Amino acid sequence: MDAMTPSQIALSTSALDYVLARDAHRLSLIHLAAAGQIWLHPGSESELFAVTVNHQRYSSQNLELADMQMDFSVAGVQHLIARFIGSDFEVDHHLKVYLDTALMESWQVIRCAGDHTIHVTRVDSLSLDIPTADYELLYYTSDWGCEFTGVRENLASEKILETRFGRSSKGQHPWFALMHDSGAVLSASVAWSGNWVFRFEPISGGFRLSGGLHDWEFSKDLPPNTTLETPIVVLVLGKDLNAVSQQYAQIGRRYWYPRTSLSAKVPVEWNHWWSYEDTYINEARFLENVAVAQSIGADICVLDAGWFGPSDAGTFWYDYRGDWDRVNVERFPRGIRPLSDECHARGMKFGMWCEIEALGVKAQLAETHPEMVARRDGERLGYICFGSPETEEFAYQTLARLIRENNLDWIKLDFNLDPGAGCNRTDHGHGAGDGLYAHYMGYYRILERVRRDFPEVVLESCSSGGLRIDLGLLRRTDMTFLSDPDYPVHDLQLFWGATTLIAPDSCLHWSFGEWIGKNPPPPQNFNPRDPKLKPHQFDYYTRISMLNVFGYSQKLPELPAWVEDRLSRHTHIYKNHVRRFVREADLYHLTDQPGRDGGGDRWSAFQYRLRDTTENLLFVFRLPGGEAARTIRLHDLQPQRLYHVMGFEGEDMGAVSGHDLMQTGLHFDTIPEEGSALLQIR
Ligand SMILES: [Zn+2]
Repeated sequence: MDAMTPSQIALSTSALDYVLARDAHRLSLIHLAAAGQIWLHPGSESELFAVTVNHQRYSSQNLELADMQMDFSVAGVQHLIARFIGSDFEVDHHLKVYLDTALMESWQVIRCAGDHTIHVTRVDSLSLDIPTADYELLYYTSDWGCEFTGVRENLASEKILETRFGRSSKGQHPWFALMHDSGAVLSASVAWSGNWVFRFEPISGGFRLSGGLHDWEFSKDLPPNTTLETPIVVLVLGKDLNAVSQQYAQIGRRYWYPRTSLSAKVPVEWNHWWSYEDTYINEARFLENVAVAQSIGADICVLDAGWFGPSDAGTFWYDYRGDWDRVNVERFPRGIRPLSDECHARGMKFGMWCEIEALGVKAQLAETHPEMVARRDGERLGYICFGSPETEEFAYQTLARLIRENNLDWIKLDFNLDPGAGCNRTDHGHGAGDGLYAHYMGYYRILERVRRDFPEVVLESCSSGGLRIDLGLLRRTDMTFLSDPDYPVHDLQLFWGATTLIAPDSCLHWSFGEWIGKNPPPPQNFNPRDPKLKPHQFDYYTRISMLNVFGYSQKLPELPAWVEDRLSRHTHIYKNHVRRFVREADLYHLTDQPGRDGGGDRWSAFQYRLRDTTENLLFVFRLPGGEAARTIRLHDLQPQRLYHVMGFEGEDMGAVSGHDLMQTGLHFDTIPEEGSALLQIR
């Protein structure tokens, strides 16, 4: 390409029109469209990214384009690397476009190319000028027990989405969908576990959308020849929200999500936590549950918090996080290994909880290794800083030891604190302004190293439930836990929200559990021994968890016989029929998001459609307050074909044409409140 001649570079796919113009020394986006919708304002030449170096803002419009390369080494991916030159630094702009989708990723690598340290204070991995329109913005607020609370509002003036809590999903989730009045959707997500931001700023003729790492309290000095890699921002376009969500899931499954043979199977999990917490778990209780879990058909048993710390039945797990070398022998006199051996002897897998980043207030680790402690202005932040190479090594070695000593198949990695702006010590190897950034880069390296060295160990991510859910962690862990509470309406709200960003096989959540804690949220009131509990209610509670990776936290030996029978039956239906769809199918949200507060849609229906087959699965739930009847219309069937509609409990609704299933729909008028249907349509 001749640098003096205007030229166009198209990275278009069958689903996307994406055209860059190279004009002298500049590179601009001049066309962006998908599903018939143009997302660039007319006549605009949009910049691609922006960086602030030595207090001056630079973008693809005012940096000099030096070189462009295309990398086709990964099948189905066009990877453009455009090098820009500044006065004493370089920016490599990376853009990936995926075949057959309208999904793109962009990020940059900034390198100090001069003789003097440069000072970086803001990096927008994505900057895009979109046209004026009547937009509705959908995003999710989040807090403990309130993850994925959908908010819809008109985008009329400046809007900021962000977190400053130091974990990606506290406050808001790092995702949005912008609905054009034509119905088309533009969605983006920051693949980053710390502070992130999206800004919508009015400009002449539209909005400037920018985002990536949050610039709040961020700065990084780059000495000569050092680099800074910015977080990936994923951009997805589609004809509607289902089309956008399916692309996130499709590319996630194919390119992002790591899998072991266990996670690829979509295992059924029993976990001890809510029905025993730390106080009531011990070796005998755990093993009693393992025996029942085996007879029910569970694939894995996970020992949650409560196993470590001083050998004193009265200690509180939270205070001792960090002391991972101390097993509570009051509860586990023979250590943890016998639990693992028993699970394996019964043909199941075994997993364990650990909060490897955290530092409890009574943990000895703070005394033995004060150099590891993350501090801000001298105050302890409650975690150890992986911005320090020695601490990163300690964390890796700790996890490796736990895996080896206990023959683990699964680690649940929790994170129960808000790091805020993060560590600003200057003796860790990071600067005062990039401690949190350095911590997460260190955490990502640890996860990648554990996977390399223990490729069969499943990594589950958790953070006070679902307060750190992002595509940065989901590139390095097999699944994410969605929330601590698991009452049914809350579960449905979470599943609806989470699966606009994440495939169901990367979401783990449990069925309605019996909580032993003193102050559960009021709706968290499940009691399997309640004589008023009806089979249709238990089926509804359980099927909700079967939408994603299926698990339960119940006192299994104390379940009434009929409840245990139903749980066993659901487990077998899940393993034999459902999980193949959870793992592979395109998911359609057929109803709107329900609200845990009693608002939102009071029916929930989800269709799983296996591509290149005629197989579909339909889940239908009538929530409390739901009207007596609802018609559910399916998507993307073959109109002329006859589909057989049948359940797993003897229901047979006969043969219905694809046309009728899509146009007329299936009418449900016999499902009670807290009732459900699970149907095969093929
Ligand atoms: Zn630090």
